[in-house]
Amino acid sequence: MVVEAISEFGKCEIAAEVTREERYANPGCGDGGGSFRKRQALGRAHHSRGEQGMRGILIKGYGGPEVLEYGDLPDPAPGPGEALIRVRVAGVNFTDVYQRTGTYLGTLPFTPGVEGVGTVEKLGRGVTSVHVGDRVGWVMLKGGYAELAVIPADRLVPIPASVDDRTAAAILLQGMTAHFLLRDCYRVTAGEWILIHAAAGGVGLLMTQIAHRIGARIIGTTSTNEKAALAREAGADEIVLYTKEDFQQAARRITGGAGVSVVYDSVGKTTFDESLDSLRPRGYMVLFGASSGAVSRVDPQILNRKGSLYLTRPTLGNYISTREELLGRATELFDWVSKGELKVRAEHDYPLADVAKAHADLEGRRTTGKILLTI
Ligand code: NDP
Repeated sequence: MVVEAISEFGKCEIAAEVTREERYANPGCGDGGGSFRKRQALGRAHHSRGEQGMRGILIKGYGGPEVLEYGDLPDPAPGPGEALIRVRVAGVNFTDVYQRTGTYLGTLPFTPGVEGVGTVEKLGRGVTSVHVGDRVGWVMLKGGYAELAVIPADRLVPIPASVDDRTAAAILLQGMTAHFLLRDCYRVTAGEWILIHAAAGGVGLLMTQIAHRIGARIIGTTSTNEKAALAREAGADEIVLYTKEDFQQAARRITGGAGVSVVYDSVGKTTFDESLDSLRPRGYMVLFGASSGAVSRVDPQILNRKGSLYLTRPTLGNYISTREELLGRATELFDWVSKGELKVRAEHDYPLADVAKAHADLEGRRTTGKILLTI
């Protein structure tokens, strides 16, 4: 399995054994071309083809959930600095949808899945940070939708005994996202009004709980009353059904006309303009996803006209780029979960073979909290 570090906009950064120069000289990057054999020839994977074989998902061309092909794949083998992981649980994330559809371009074919938890089965040369048998997790590296994955050892997160595999897989990517968004991207403080879109989603429920712990006053948006109830339970003070009500007007009303300090907008296309209108002067627009589609070009003058606003488009990768940051965020999340201070809602489990249904349900807004694949 080729392991690729993810850039949200599809820049191909290989975490295995290919240089940037080789990568950019390779037309397989972002052009939808290339083949499994070609990838092997490039030496980016360490396949021992045909030796044993494993079950996994392969995407050969961008498209709907049907392009997620389940079948036999060659066993990967770890190269220097890498570990072979027997995957137990893989997380499904909206990022997987962007990669499947080609919104984020990468190399074809590939095995998707940017989050997993499993056991170290074999070590590549020079690895001392983990041992065979360790329970570990990882995020933001492709290849999780398979029985085996090769991951750079320095990107592995040890899972404490107090956290089970499912919970770890449910918290790592979405939890660390919630953590960096609320702590570092914009530092939320007690008493201020903030707006969180899709508050009953995977990231949304975790953000709402963490922001509530901080003491922020939260306006959450959801599409249904059932989702609204979950977001309230997680700590949202006010809910707006943004499919029925103008959330910008609601945000003004709730804040006495002042506007919110920050909008966390993962929905994108359908919410972006109104989100800007929900902010107080010098407020922060944190656009961190595109569940409804990508936002078209933004004229910076709009930030001036709407009150000297700030706009950022962050990605988790840049907030866990050092090992210290990666482990720091994961450790704090595991601690909260172990103490029962952060609840994980993970009620959508699918066998790996049914991953297409998992994707369809996520895109169809039929899920709440986390979606997991049992491998
Ligand atoms: P969610 O569980 O939040 O699912 C997406 C939710 O978005 C849906 O449940 C739905 O909630 C809402 N939504 C609104 N409009 C649409 C639409 N047209 N189609 C589908 N869904 C819609 O997914 P995740 O928790 O996995 O991810 C949430 C967002 O966070 C994604 O946009 C993802 O890309 C982003 N993200 C960004 C990261 C980063 O580093 N920048 C890292 C991780 C996630 P409702 O029905 O209530 O409207």
